[in-house]
Amino acid sequence: MVTSLVLPETVSVPGQPRQNTNRSYRIPFNRPTLVGKELYYISQVIHLGHSAGDGAFSKRCHALLEEILGAPKVLLTTSCTDALELSALLLDIQPGDEVIVPSFTFVSTINAFVLRGAKPVFADVRPDTLNLDERVLEGLITERTRAIVPVHYAGIGCEMDEIDAIAQKHGIRVVEDNAHGLLGKYRGKNLGTFGCLATQSFHETKNFICGEGGALIINDTSLIERAEILREKGTNRSRFFRGQVDKYTWVDLGSSFLLSDILAAFLYAQLEEREEIQATRRRIWEYYDEQLRDWATEFEIRQPVVPAHCDQAYHMYYLLMPSLSIREAFIDHLKARGILSVFHYLPLHLSDMGRRFGGKEGDCPVVEDVSDRLVRLPFFNDLAESDQASVVEAITEFIPR
Ligand SMILES: *Cc1c(COP(=O)(O)O)cnc(C)c1O
Repeated sequence: MVTSLVLPETVSVPGQPRQNTNRSYRIPFNRPTLVGKELYYISQVIHLGHSAGDGAFSKRCHALLEEILGAPKVLLTTSCTDALELSALLLDIQPGDEVIVPSFTFVSTINAFVLRGAKPVFADVRPDTLNLDERVLEGLITERTRAIVPVHYAGIGCEMDEIDAIAQKHGIRVVEDNAHGLLGKYRGKNLGTFGCLATQSFHETKNFICGEGGALIINDTSLIERAEILREKGTNRSRFFRGQVDKYTWVDLGSSFLLSDILAAFLYAQLEEREEIQATRRRIWEYYDEQLRDWATEFEIRQPVVPAHCDQAYHMYYLLMPSLSIREAFIDHLKARGILSVFHYLPLHLSDMGRRFGGKEGDCPVVEDVSDRLVRLPFFNDLAESDQASVVEAITEFIPR
């Protein structure tokens, strides 16, 4: 069963002010939960004596994720950000290369490529799913375009048939940022298995967590051997441990991308309970969707759109309010009732960095519009039905004007 990890109110760190703003809310936006054997598995890691990366639980996570996804190779990383950085290294992204990314995403999706010298090219999103709009892609491709990085926003698949076809036609690689989408499907195929590479996040805000963590999914088998080297500080240590070489040495670029086995143990327990977690998240998502429908229709508030050919991953529940000022009033209305709701990404093309690369108002009109109006509702694995009912009640008391 799902158990909350939230400490009693009386527990605080000696000598430090309480910093967790979640505590001032009766119903937080998110909180980590234990779902199974997390703490037992962590104690096993200590007992086994291998707490660095690629221990027993890392190997179990690799095998389980490969099986769940039907992917040839999965490697745990310290974060999704690091899996993206590893992707940019693996694709040999060079200064001046262009990488196309939706403007409505987390910074890391593109920063990982900019670190290698790439120029970001920001794409607008579809008004329905808020995913990279495949219809604008052709217009953004130049002879310098090396990669497209679609993000399956809220765990709802991008139009991968069209994106893949365009990428193939121009000889461009696709890297899926699947931070929201583990266990989601597009036309029956798992998200994370479309690109030559895909990345996962196990950050505490995602569906399956270990505090901080990630994974690189390698669908192009020709990239596996080098991925193992880059991930192991540029050494062939993985081959050494398999007995394929008798010493290990420095053979390529690299960095320290391995997840501690302590965190892998926590993650493995979460992945074992994936069906229960997803069933819970589905129930939460559907409850919001059904209970808010009449209110949303009356006040022209848009609920999420899930195309029939997408099995979503139930990552979040959002609403699109009629305007920025109504969204602010809505967040304040819930706050006054002890409920934390939050907005999401700001347009990347209008950020300080985005503008430095030439981003300007009007480049991505849909992103500019929705980022002001989107609000996310409390969504975590042990959100009690009575608490969710009180969120719904507070929301339906809100009259936008
Ligand atoms: C959370 C998130 C990331 C970053 O994940 P980390 O594991 O925190 O590095 C990247 N992209 C998207 C779309 C995300 O939501």
